[in-house]
Amino acid sequence: MGRIRQLDEQTANMIAAGEVVERPMGVVKELVENSIDAGADRITVSVEEGGITSLTVSDNGCGMDSQDAANAFLRHATSKIRSSEDLWDIGTLGFRGEALPSIASVSKLTLITSDGTDNTRVVIEYGKTVSVSSWPCNQGTEITVENLFYRTPARLKHLRSGAYENSLVQDVIMKFAMSHPEIAFRFISSGKEAFRTSGNGNLQEVIFQCWGREPAELAIPVSFSDYDYKCSGYLVKPSITRSSRNFMHIFLNGRMVRTFRLYQAVMDGYEDFIVKGRKPLCVLNIEMDPHLLDVNVHPSKWEVRISKENQLEYLIRDQVREALKNTMLAPNIRPVKETTYYEQIPLETNVSFRTPYVSAPSAPVTPESIPAPAPVETSAAQLSNTQPQDTPVNSNEVIEPNPVPEPVIQRLPDMQVIGQLHEKFILCACEAGLAVIDQHAAQERVHYEQYCNALNKNPAMMDLLVPITLAAGDDLVRRVEELNEAAEELHITFEAFGHDTLIVRSVPSWMKDLDEERFLQDVIENFRNETKSVYAKMEKKKIATMACHHSIRFNRALNMEEMKQVVLQLNDCENPYHCPHGRPTFVILDEKDLTKEFLR
Ligand code: ADP
Ligand code: MG
Repeated sequence: MGRIRQLDEQTANMIAAGEVVERPMGVVKELVENSIDAGADRITVSVEEGGITSLTVSDNGCGMDSQDAANAFLRHATSKIRSSEDLWDIGTLGFRGEALPSIASVSKLTLITSDGTDNTRVVIEYGKTVSVSSWPCNQGTEITVENLFYRTPARLKHLRSGAYENSLVQDVIMKFAMSHPEIAFRFISSGKEAFRTSGNGNLQEVIFQCWGREPAELAIPVSFSDYDYKCSGYLVKPSITRSSRNFMHIFLNGRMVRTFRLYQAVMDGYEDFIVKGRKPLCVLNIEMDPHLLDVNVHPSKWEVRISKENQLEYLIRDQVREALKNTMLAPNIRPVKETTYYEQIPLETNVSFRTPYVSAPSAPVTPESIPAPAPVETSAAQLSNTQPQDTPVNSNEVIEPNPVPEPVIQRLPDMQVIGQLHEKFILCACEAGLAVIDQHAAQERVHYEQYCNALNKNPAMMDLLVPITLAAGDDLVRRVEELNEAAEELHITFEAFGHDTLIVRSVPSWMKDLDEERFLQDVIENFRNETKSVYAKMEKKKIATMACHHSIRFNRALNMEEMKQVVLQLNDCENPYHCPHGRPTFVILDEKDLTKEFLR
């Protein structure tokens, strides 16, 4: 007698629930997605104890008739696709027909819905339909989920405190608000409104409501596309950064997803402008033909597959870099008149200034808008409990969208060297006030660009007296042609030397400053693990290290000529504002601020 049986529907639903909804946040995500798919433009979410005891999502969407209201709880029942072909052309957020039966199998669920004609109420307790009745209500749908996982203690145990679950719910609603600025969202936590958006379509305003004034003001609008992808949104200037990726939002066809390669592409675009190890804040909405996006990867729909992901990665990286390059400028200043009264003066006073970060012309630095020098990380949990100080909970304030920036030709403000401070900083007078140059960072930038230029133009090659042999393994030796193709940009040629060894007989002369063998070994390892794009990054990292080693250190006295030389060389740089590690090369103390400090 066979031992295999088909599971009953309730058990199957509970298994699916394990994947679809892990915690209140997942339930809210599924329900709000349904509301969006129903065409709602007003969605309200309210929770008690972070959704553990109760959560409600209500919308003004199309609603359901009484038959659909009952059918919606059948497993794999959906109005959004009809056949397997439709899986390749998904224009809605949901399509699996799993969320409602799954949620209803692990909670007490009440649905009230009206399509404008039928008004229906359905109550289901842990998979059992308790009642279906007529119920007066407005058009739209309201779903209440109570005592989630009450009968699945293992799951219940997995939940954290109400405050923590609350913060996850708020976080996901903020993501919805940013991916759908045209929808008015309201979030009510334990009876109090915690967050709302107007639904007027202004993304910068939503950024203001989610992250506060400063990121909103420092947000650069971007819009770019190629044949397959259309991308728009905001990049926050890197004077504000975070330690985690939680503030990087990338939406694909209005869908929130976890796409690590695309996060990386954005970070690569920021690389020259951001301090190493820090993460940017951004919101990017990417539109593409649904054929290019496979969302049928995991029941929770957080994971997707993108058909031409490399192409999209390059597009994002290059365009982010370009946008930042065009806006990360020091204030555009007219040249100062020739003056003769700046003399090298002894600087003995121990002055400490607030150091405003140089900001772009589109957001003039005013005392109010000066970012804190070391931004404090706000965790999702903190965010939910403490609204940013200047974020009105119920904001009627309108933020004008920043215009898409015109490309600007970069130039440094004219600087007159005054002297050196503590053998670390070069002090210069400029029209805006006092420029303080980090002597090490400035020279790092100069050397970095010099090395890059030398590398890009056919570099001089150096024959090695003793060729370098590298243990590469049989598999790699077989792929030596492929390896050489990938390493072409580095001007390195590997040859097979026996069945498991590679040999390199000449290297570009810039490599003499490195431990060549280790570098070549790294090249091989990167080839083994990664794609070609790794090389460009690797090369940059090495060059940055080299530039760093060869630059003027802190604690070195410089004479006037040396300092002038640094300023002149910096002026010739393509990106004079940041060192290769993303730190600023100089800051400007505004004359107006100085005047204020003296109470004038
Ligand atoms: P899916 O969203 O994958 O279709 P769900 O289980 O989430 O599956 O929902 C089942 C069906 O119930 C949906 O296809 C839709 O027709 C209907 N439905 C669910 N929520 C709503 C809502 N808020 N407004 C209108 N219809 C809804
Ligand atoms: Mg759904």
